[in-house]
Amino acid sequence: MCKYDVAIIGAGPAGYTSAVRFAQLGLKVAIIEKDKLGGTCLNSGCIPTKFLWQAAKTKQKILKSLEYGIKSTIEPINFQDIINRKNKIVENLSKGVQKLLESYNIEIVKGKASFKSSNQLVIKTDNEEFEITADKIIVATGSISKSIPNVQFDHIKYIDSTDALNLTVIPKNMLVIGGGAIGIELSSIFATFGCDITLREIFPQLLPNEDLELAQEIAKGLSRQGIKVEVGCSDALQDENKFEKILIVAGRQASIDELNVSNINLQTDKRNYLVSDDYSTNIKNIFAIGDITGKCFLAYTAGQDGINIVEKLINHKIEKSNDPIPKVVFSFPPVASVKDCEFDNYQNIVYGKFLFSANARAQIEFERTGWVKVAVDKDSEKILGVWIIGANADELINIASVMIKANMTVCDLSKNIFFHPSLAEMILGSCEQALNKCPDLPKSI
Ligand SMILES: Cc1cc2nc3c(=O)[nH]c(=O)nc-3n(C[C@H](O)[C@H](O)[C@H](O)COP(=O)(O)OP(=O)(O)OC[C@H]3O[C@@H](n4cnc5c(N)ncnc54)[C@H](O)[C@@H]3O)c2cc1C
Repeated sequence: MCKYDVAIIGAGPAGYTSAVRFAQLGLKVAIIEKDKLGGTCLNSGCIPTKFLWQAAKTKQKILKSLEYGIKSTIEPINFQDIINRKNKIVENLSKGVQKLLESYNIEIVKGKASFKSSNQLVIKTDNEEFEITADKIIVATGSISKSIPNVQFDHIKYIDSTDALNLTVIPKNMLVIGGGAIGIELSSIFATFGCDITLREIFPQLLPNEDLELAQEIAKGLSRQGIKVEVGCSDALQDENKFEKILIVAGRQASIDELNVSNINLQTDKRNYLVSDDYSTNIKNIFAIGDITGKCFLAYTAGQDGINIVEKLINHKIEKSNDPIPKVVFSFPPVASVKDCEFDNYQNIVYGKFLFSANARAQIEFERTGWVKVAVDKDSEKILGVWIIGANADELINIASVMIKANMTVCDLSKNIFFHPSLAEMILGSCEQALNKCPDLPKSI
């Protein structure tokens, strides 16, 4: 039986990031994966969605070429070709993860892991079963699609996000249930390729935890694409027979059933997640990172967990991360936001807004829809939050994130020189607007 210092279950961003870190420190590491290296993010999440969004954006750009005096026509699109290209990118990136793991001599164990004891795992493949042991075991098994009550995925008509990302023909129409990031992104993509989309959300706004103004603006953008958006919808399946496909993207559930946690009495919360503030579980040598902790459901926070767990176990210091987390939704146009973690504790906030239509670069790019909004603490002038809807919001938000993490004030920001003409100038512009609304503040900008 093979013995390791650390065994990691799941080769998604949480699992493979921690595997590399542990190996860099000289530990003997095994990573067990039942499916493809790279996890949800690489195979059925971030990468495929952003590839398809980019394909949709390319179509939209071509349709706008006449704005520059360039005439163009688009031949009928064979969606299978787009899916093939998406698969190629995913395959290349997955090979990259394999090479990375191999370069650190990390043992890649193919198979499904379950617990036999607190430091013994049973690995099952199609044709064999074997055991490995490890001093420490990290659970990084991620999350899977969750359906709505009384509906089971048949993966033909009632589909999940993974099925949607592998459709080779664009359906005539599709009901999308769930107005979170995944529902919005897939609606925008399929609508661009000619699918008649109805998007239903049970809460009164899309992206229920997001700024209301931003959510309303997203709804407008979806409507401009011809998507029928229905919020506050309590019976999403009222007319289910009308639709060729029903895509259910109403949440995620813990990917834990196959681990046999009851064998070792590994405790979960009511939703079945391994929740904890410092990655520990009720069993002292077993830890949990990434989506399985039921907190963020983002690849980049999962990757950060992968780094933090090594810090905790090797250097015995747990980085209590209070970093602002940027969030992006790839709609048309994209939206993004980032807030100071203490945002809700500030009482005296002023807002400033700058419209894309007033920015030279946005004019040049024919991307006049959208705005940048900032929140500034009136007392300290500290920048507390940035919300962007408009072209390149997905990239611009990283600047905002750095500003907030660095505790920048509007005055600090104004000392930086921004390239002209650039979209980023709007961040500065919106801060100016915030100060203008605030007669007590020095007009330091
Ligand atoms: C459609 C979609 C779009 C998304 N877009 C984005 C985005 O743009 N940006 C972003 O940051 N996040 C995005 N996410 C979320 C992101 O994919 C996840 O947050 C991230 O993948 C979580 O990483 P993880 O390592 O915790 O788990 P996962 O990536 O889910 O990896 C877990 C791995 O564990 C394996 N596994 C599970 N059980 C076992 C077992 N018993 N034995 C062996 N292996 C096992 C699984 O096969 C899987 O490979 C998206 C998700 C979806 C579904």
